[in-house]
Amino acid sequence: MNGYIPPADACAVPAGINAWSLAKAKAEGTITFECQKCGRLSVVEVSILEKRFPAETQLREISRRMRCTCCGRCVASALVRRSWGRGDRAWLPRPPRLSR
Ligand SMILES: [Zn+2]
Repeated sequence: MNGYIPPADACAVPAGINAWSLAKAKAEGTITFECQKCGRLSVVEVSILEKRFPAETQLREISRRMRCTCCGRCVASALVRRSWGRGDRAWLPRPPRLSR
């Protein structure tokens, strides 16, 4: 920790992405869903989500409707990978468990 916080982070509360709308997540980067059961990651094209959900739909609502293709459980967490971030710091609210 060097104590420096980029301006964009000051207003982006990491734990708050579940309250983000689909439109905001699209503006920030790409949306990934992580299965809380088996850890499988699914990167979902925003254009596909937009066909199923209105732009103002919160990520919380979308992740609730995602089903894991690996284990079949509906326990996804939404993760956003910011297009301008690097490595683990690009991810909100945290990097995926199986990112490497
Ligand atoms: Zn799963």
